[in-house]
Amino acid sequence: MKLIDNPSLSNYLTMKIGGSALMMAEAYNLKDIQDIIQKCKNEKLKFYILGGGSNIIAHDETFNGIIIQNKITGMNVIKEDGESAVIKAGSGEPWDDLVKMSIHMNLSGIEAMSIIPGTCGAAPVQNIGAYGQEIADTLIEVEAFNTDSGEVETIAAKDCEFKYRSSIFRDKLPGKYIIISITLRLSKSKPKPPFYANLQKYLDNAHITDYNVSDIRQAVIQIRQTKLPDPAKQPNSGSFFKNAIVTKQKLEQLLANYPNAPYYDMGNNQYKVPTGWLIDNCNLKGKLIKGMRINPANALVLINESASGYKDLAAARAEITATVYDKFGIKIEQEPLEI
Ligand SMILES: Cc1cc2nc3c(=O)[nH]c(=O)nc-3n(C[C@H](O)[C@H](O)[C@H](O)COP(=O)(O)OP(=O)(O)OC[C@H]3O[C@@H](n4cnc5c(N)ncnc54)[C@H](O)[C@@H]3O)c2cc1C
Repeated sequence: MKLIDNPSLSNYLTMKIGGSALMMAEAYNLKDIQDIIQKCKNEKLKFYILGGGSNIIAHDETFNGIIIQNKITGMNVIKEDGESAVIKAGSGEPWDDLVKMSIHMNLSGIEAMSIIPGTCGAAPVQNIGAYGQEIADTLIEVEAFNTDSGEVETIAAKDCEFKYRSSIFRDKLPGKYIIISITLRLSKSKPKPPFYANLQKYLDNAHITDYNVSDIRQAVIQIRQTKLPDPAKQPNSGSFFKNAIVTKQKLEQLLANYPNAPYYDMGNNQYKVPTGWLIDNCNLKGKLIKGMRINPANALVLINESASGYKDLAAARAEITATVYDKFGIKIEQEPLEI
């Protein structure tokens, strides 16, 4: 197990904000995870599992514990029949390598989630999703290390309590489980319409009518590149805010004042209102607040241009959320998690 003293967290997070930690430990397998957690228990240190750092914001204060850097690899087809293939991936594998493997094998189910940054192990944490697909649609189970009991558990997808950008790993039991592997069932059938509106529009414009996973991947990559800044050039965490989920009553109030407000019916009296639209309609798009730029191409994304640290980011967040609340009466929530 390799240990690094006093790592600066901002170097490991795509937002490039955050202080340091006491230590960082690279984990290549389950044994490394077990040893690190035992060390933390023995020495009364905190621990935090890190994937690609694309959905984490760190505070300026030192994290008094060990950051576990996930390096658990491996991707294999473990079962196959005429209709589907089951793939198991180590939690430290880059998510997009799994998508590429599925495209290469002509399997459908995750192609619309092409080039989402980060690791396979983090994908179930917030039930990653894009262009009409979520990992909840194809995940069979995860293998996870229970940091309380020290046991490895197999947790079926139905027990992960997936919702929009939510799971037990993120909201109900954060820190309890370290995901070691994920297992997905992908289909041998071609992707079927209806596709998400802007994906369909792109496919129509490109005169693509015979849908295959490679074309969907290419379309998604093209669309994303116009909307999402590359974290390597412009530090960001993707969507900084979740889309707002409102009741029918709240939606009707919104539509009474803004008849053109976009929304998606999610069933169960829940409606998704794009937070990018809310921020945009407060005339905040493109604005620089405390060194944080509200992305001119997509107001959901905050870019760290010159923030001095977490406190600047928090001030920008407070101004944006208060402005949206004052105008629409809707509370918007941050998507990235915090160390
Ligand atoms: C440019 C950009 C675009 C993005 N687009 C999308 C998008 O379209 N859709 C979407 O859903 N997200 C998107 N994201 C957010 C992000 O990519 C995903 O949330 C991704 O799954 C995070 O992976 P990660 O490995 O970087 O996780 P990290 O940021 O390292 O960790 C995120 C959380 O997961 C926990 N975690 C990480 N690994 C494990 C593990 N093995 N076991 C248990 N918990 C773990 C961490 O402790 C932390 O709480 C985007 C981000 C960026 C920067």
